[in-house]
Amino acid sequence: MSKENLNLFKIAQSQLDKAAEILGLEEPVRLFLREPMREFIFTIPLKMDDGSTRIFKGYRVQYNNARGPTKGGLRWHPDETIDTVRALAAWMTWKTAVVDIPLGGAKGGITCNPKELSLTERERLARGYMRAFARILGVTKDVPAPDVYTTPQIMAWMMDEYEAILGQSHPGVITGKPLPLGGSEGRMDATARGGLYVTREACRELGIAPKGTAVAIQGFGNAGQFAATLGVEMLGFKVIAVSDSRGGIINTNGFDVGALVAYKNRTGAVSGFPGSNPISNENLLELDVEVLFPSALENTITGENARKIRAKIVCELANGPTTPEADSILFKNGVFVIPDFLANAGGVTVSYFEQVQNTYNYYWQLDEVHRQLDLRMTKAFKDVFKIHKARELDMRTSAYLISVDRVATACRLRGWV
Ligand code: NAD
Repeated sequence: MSKENLNLFKIAQSQLDKAAEILGLEEPVRLFLREPMREFIFTIPLKMDDGSTRIFKGYRVQYNNARGPTKGGLRWHPDETIDTVRALAAWMTWKTAVVDIPLGGAKGGITCNPKELSLTERERLARGYMRAFARILGVTKDVPAPDVYTTPQIMAWMMDEYEAILGQSHPGVITGKPLPLGGSEGRMDATARGGLYVTREACRELGIAPKGTAVAIQGFGNAGQFAATLGVEMLGFKVIAVSDSRGGIINTNGFDVGALVAYKNRTGAVSGFPGSNPISNENLLELDVEVLFPSALENTITGENARKIRAKIVCELANGPTTPEADSILFKNGVFVIPDFLANAGGVTVSYFEQVQNTYNYYWQLDEVHRQLDLRMTKAFKDVFKIHKARELDMRTSAYLISVDRVATACRLRGWV
């Protein structure tokens, strides 16, 4: 039985420590980068539809803003804790740095189960969060976006509340908005699309022909569904297994992904899709596929199951799916891991494009968004791959070397450390 510490923030700190040692980072810089610069916790009362009042905890961690205003998603999940938010905020800092956009990293969330809330309760909770946090948000301060169980509609309510507080238009306060309210073309599928651009590059480097290649996807929300659809459309992948929180399904001939997405949207789950057999989330991870996309939550590949992973490429669309112990096992076994803060950076990159378009109030065509996203993701992949090859390090550590160096340089130039 492995005795790994699965606290996400401890994991994020240990990854940083490893990179700091290789970089020979000065001790004050390492200590500064190990901790968030600012954290906020607010108590949010919510009037329920039945007239009762429930109390929720809301978080925002602004990890580091040396390279620009902070940016990061909002997660509504029953297991949300301040340490989860800290870790995700740290990874946002390394993410904006690896794709070299002029932003820092932040993250936020509410400990809640949105599945138990009505639409009107969700709206009041979104507005309550914004009333509590408005003072620390804004395009020059910190800009939230969607993450697990938050949607463009939730972003719209929050933007509306912020504008009501300010008494002026300020669409850039939040990204991932619906298109009619200043959202960007291409934001909905940006996380998966960015992941597929880097997977395409990885296949090229590893000599894998993507057409007809079997892939498995854990999690079938924003990241997972678009990974399936675009994986087929852009690279010709054969999606043989998918799962969500209620379980997984497999069909070794490959799914009709359009029909599967429609089925999931109609029934709320992938289970029972015609022509499929059930598979557990655990077994899905261990399938003999070329590419595995963990696209659900953290700590799914651990010291317990890493030896059983047979995929050639693991493209981490989820944040934090692989523990440090699993990382070293995968590296030893020759599994090529595209680390989360590179693999899923497409989301924040198009969120950044959205912020830019909101600020100059002029909107791009979809093909321009795709072109710019491809350029940034491909360049970031090549930068990281170069270090991976030259220094014989795993891809995660290689990505850390670039990001930590960029953030540390900004901190030094500001005279902070
Ligand atoms: P989402 O809420 O749209 O979907 C989450 C999916 O995961 C759902 O299908 C849910 O059923 C499934 N799931 C939950 N628990 C599961 C479990 N135990 N086993 C299998 N499936 C499970 O969320 P999302 O936006 O797709 O985010 C998924 C991951 O991608 C998260 O780690 C998130 O932080 C990361 N991410 C998302 C974005 C984005 O733009 N949406 C950007 C970067 C990273």
